[in-house]
Amino acid sequence: MEKEQRKIPFNKPAFTGKELDYIKDAVNRGMLCGDGEYTKRCSAWMKEHFHVNQAFLTTSCTHALEMGAYLSEIQPGDEVIMPSFTFVSTADAFVLRGAKIVFVDIRPDTMNIDEQLIEDAITPRTKAIVPVHYAGVACEMDTIMEIAKRHDLKVVEDAAQGVNAWYKGKALGTIGDFGCYSFHETKNYTMGEGGALVFQDPSCQERAEILREKGTDRSKFFRGQVDKYRWMDYGSSYLPSEMNAAYLYAQLEQCDEINRKRHQIYDYYHENLKELEDRGYITRPFIPDYAEHNAHMYYLKVENLEVRTRLLSYMKEQGIYSAFHYIPLHSSPAGQKFGRFHGEDRFTTRESERLLRLPMFYNLDMEDVRHITEVLLKFPF
Ligand SMILES: *Cc1c(COP(=O)(O)O)cnc(C)c1O
Repeated sequence: MEKEQRKIPFNKPAFTGKELDYIKDAVNRGMLCGDGEYTKRCSAWMKEHFHVNQAFLTTSCTHALEMGAYLSEIQPGDEVIMPSFTFVSTADAFVLRGAKIVFVDIRPDTMNIDEQLIEDAITPRTKAIVPVHYAGVACEMDTIMEIAKRHDLKVVEDAAQGVNAWYKGKALGTIGDFGCYSFHETKNYTMGEGGALVFQDPSCQERAEILREKGTDRSKFFRGQVDKYRWMDYGSSYLPSEMNAAYLYAQLEQCDEINRKRHQIYDYYHENLKELEDRGYITRPFIPDYAEHNAHMYYLKVENLEVRTRLLSYMKEQGIYSAFHYIPLHSSPAGQKFGRFHGEDRFTTRESERLLRLPMFYNLDMEDVRHITEVLLKFPF
């Protein structure tokens, strides 16, 4: 009898055990809208663990980026520098404010923005730099912060993938003016859909609260600082519900355990795929000395698009779902409309076409990880 084929998904949202109890508790507390007990616990947890002054839970990282763009006072016609190898929201959040996006090339070793190319892309209209910490591996932040300081630019970190990852001992997201986290189900710690905006400057607190609370000073009202709440400024609705926050809090409490398991998977792939790198078939990810990563993903790079297409369907035939991303933003329809690529695209397109992500999630069995590795080792490169 033929053995039933094992199917391994690309991702499953993390589940650690207490999530449903906390959701039940949130319901029993009788307040389901935002900023209840669990939202407070999540914010306090982030402030304490990431040594950051302000932490606002949001409905997504996309929304945190929108807040970052607004609080950076981006005006129509301003230019914002970022990599083209990123998720659409990195750019979209700034396009919503009327900005022009200026894409610069990435470093092939980390797939992060090449910090050496940023300065040349600066014009009198440049207002901000948006580094993306790809795969939870830090960008070269000292260089980026130094350039920003010299040219009086804001830095908004897209740390969607960089929660609980570090640069020279500082949590990603807490180094620039604003940091944006994602708690989407594909990220290390999740609440289904969700995110956070973090920042150090206390003088931005009030504006962030108003922006997040539909333009009202409702947060002040709840603290008893004003006797009625009013429409104060532009705003939107960026508060997640307590049920989502309850799910997240269970995950944050298990942060070390989630991190440990992800590193175990990462290390297994990394050690066992070395052989393929030695034989010249693949390139494995690189972690610079200044970065302490969070095992957000494990990717490998093959020779070219043709090999990747073959490898992807080979894996699928074996019941293993791997994935690739991103179609570089500058070559997408909206990227062409709202942005331009500064300098030469030496690595963005080429490296993105070579990249393949392997299954990586908290509840992935090590037995499955071994199986995936064995299947990969048998591929006719
Ligand atoms: C996931 C991701 C986002 C978007 O996060 P959401 O929480 O889904 O809005 C933005 N930028 C990067 C780099 C991401 O990986």
